[in-house]
Amino acid sequence: MILLRRADWEADTDFPRRGHRIGPLRRTEVFVHHTVIVDADATRNEWETLDEVKFWMRRLQRIRPDLGSDVPYNMVAFCMSDGDLALCEGRGLYRTGAHARNHNRSALGIAFHGNFEDEAAPTHLDTNLADLATWLRNLRNVRGFVNLGNSRPKDKQVWGHRDAKSTRTVCPGEKLYDRLASIRFIDEEDEFAMDKSTWKVVQRALQNQTPPLYAGKTIDGRPGKNTNTAVLAFEKRMRLQPRGVVGTSGDSAAAIWPATRELLFVSSTEFKDV
Ligand SMILES: [Zn+2]
Repeated sequence: MILLRRADWEADTDFPRRGHRIGPLRRTEVFVHHTVIVDADATRNEWETLDEVKFWMRRLQRIRPDLGSDVPYNMVAFCMSDGDLALCEGRGLYRTGAHARNHNRSALGIAFHGNFEDEAAPTHLDTNLADLATWLRNLRNVRGFVNLGNSRPKDKQVWGHRDAKSTRTVCPGEKLYDRLASIRFIDEEDEFAMDKSTWKVVQRALQNQTPPLYAGKTIDGRPGKNTNTAVLAFEKRMRLQPRGVVGTSGDSAAAIWPATRELLFVSSTEFKDV
């Protein structure tokens, strides 16, 4: 995968980067778009050279003055004819976008340059999407975007623009939309059930919040109504999307969301050096 930062594609500095700064913890979803701009040759959704890529990034800077003179997406992806994926920094990872109403803060907006509704999919699309998934996984596991993907549709880990409520768009086009489910970047063990001893640690961590969220309740290592309520309260307090316990309350196979668990441990006074 090739990553091009703004300086690499020579963003016109007369048009400053737009959007408001926003931290990685607040990014809970990925939105996929297409730009509806196609290549002039026979392979309309494939790009041959990095010069073309840079040219189009500079065009995208000025293409929607109504949304502000900047690339409206956080990132723009180009499927290269040799099978590589060129991922270009639009507003970047730490700025709000202008790509999907009501989701410009919570979502990283990634647009594929091309028209995936009317034109054929690029030859190497599966590889391109796998590369994107690897990049997203790294954001989540290594670069502090620990909540990325916590808000997602039932059947996939990223949203297509058309999944958003009250939109009538076909974006990102059916050839891309049909393959979005293949973009998987959330580690599976993240969603696995927790054993009794882990639940005990969780319950103790809830009790050790300031102010405590599980005070006076029994540390029994079994998820139940009290644990669920405390986890929900914690998520609300941390401004995560409240989800509580995943699975039936009282079910020993239930779990909580990995981001919640992680934050719970780091914020518990039990784990702090005093
Ligand atoms: Zn869109």
